[in-house]
Amino acid sequence: MGYLKQIEVENFKSWRGKQVIGPFMRFNCIIGTNGSGKSNVMDALSFAMGERTASLRVRHLRDLVHGAHIGRPVSDTARVSLHYCDDEEQETVFCRSVSGDSSVYRINGSQVTLAKYLEALEKIGIVTKARNCLVFQGAVESIALKDPKERTKMFEIICQSKEYAEKYDKMKEA
Ligand code: ATP
Ligand code: MG
Repeated sequence: MGYLKQIEVENFKSWRGKQVIGPFMRFNCIIGTNGSGKSNVMDALSFAMGERTASLRVRHLRDLVHGAHIGRPVSDTARVSLHYCDDEEQETVFCRSVSGDSSVYRINGSQVTLAKYLEALEKIGIVTKARNCLVFQGAVESIALKDPKERTKMFEIICQSKEYAEKYDKMKEA
């Protein structure tokens, strides 16, 4: 299974200019004092995974630019790149940038549509709408309160067992 090697941020939320977060290992833990930017790391991840504004804790996409929260954005653009490594250590770079309120998505430097971008993420097992990567503050409770069938459905999407379900049911009958 592949892993996220590093995140590059540019003028995104609390990061001014270009900065690198990582390198990461296969399991990572982010610690820091209140307000130090832990959730901003998750926001950077979600942003680069195509997340909409509500989950990014801003009203408009333009508010993601460094300094925009105090009305002094340092640039018109913010950018986040995810460096993903597969089993053969082949790197794929997923990049989303925002200018004003519109987003541009790139895979290894080539601009793609959001649909293509999400499709490529899904191919490596990142199903953004299944929330397999990010559990936001408060989401644990909402997952725990789901009815069991709904919760099972969610886990089936996450672990990709759904595609084998029909085959499994047939084998069980035989
Ligand atoms: P907690 O432990 O309270 O959850 P945290 O470590 O998750 O805190 P964050 O919410 O990630 O902290 O970061 C908050 C910081 O990010 C604040 O200091 C805020 O000023 C800064 N910040 C948020 N948006 C921007 C922005 N657009 N430009 C610059 N700084 C920003
Ligand atoms: Mg936080």
